[in-house]
Amino acid sequence: MKIFISADIEGVAGIGQWNETESGPWYDYFSKEMSREVAAACEGALVAGATEIYVKDGHHTACNIYPDMLPKEAVLNRGWSGDGYGMMSGVQDDVDFVVMIGYHAASYSDANPLSHTSENYIRKFAINGQLASEFMINRYIAALHQVPVIFLSGDQGIVDEVRTTDPGISTFATLQGRGGSTTSVHPEVAYEKIKEGVRQAVTLNKYYVPELPEYFDVKITYQEQNRARKAALFPGAKRIDPYTVQFETDEYFEFLRFYTFVG
Ligand SMILES: [Zn+2]
Repeated sequence: MKIFISADIEGVAGIGQWNETESGPWYDYFSKEMSREVAAACEGALVAGATEIYVKDGHHTACNIYPDMLPKEAVLNRGWSGDGYGMMSGVQDDVDFVVMIGYHAASYSDANPLSHTSENYIRKFAINGQLASEFMINRYIAALHQVPVIFLSGDQGIVDEVRTTDPGISTFATLQGRGGSTTSVHPEVAYEKIKEGVRQAVTLNKYYVPELPEYFDVKITYQEQNRARKAALFPGAKRIDPYTVQFETDEYFEFLRFYTFVG
């Protein structure tokens, strides 16, 4: 049984400031927190009988997780492959279940001071009229390969979204945002809940793969109008207002191609 873990940092316990996600004095602490939460997910999967674990570091440079903090059964993918799958690169290789750790609310949401989708230069990202979170985008990538997402941990905002769209996915909320602040559980609580949540999710084995929509109407609103002008040069894309570009397709991979270049 092979488990794929996609990991981000803006939804790990305790985080709440942008400089903690990349370079500030607390970055090292939170890259270790991300590593420990991923390790807890690995341990839960192993207890439940996983034989292979593939971890995708999915934040920023994708070089955040400390390799030696993961159990030896796990392999770790660092950096970006450029295959269009982003935070899900590797899910195409015979995976049974997907687990998401450290996920966060979508851009334009006030559920986390670190809410975003893809990059911070994007103000609003919508697919078929709904705010698109990285969870939404990545769950469709898993669906493209008929792989169910079984567990997600992250901020309360993304947990609320998952409970609405996919109540079958087990979840754990590490933190709650309020304005520029966050309130988190203790890290040890996060490790226990993630380990046990993943163990139960793998054991239950009752998941379904959502159907991909037949059509994708994608609208990206940027913080700066020059980005929209440039994105509108992508074949098939059009600028519908000074800050917004629209792209329509019925093939999800065509959306991923667009997202890879302009997202
Ligand atoms: Zn991130």
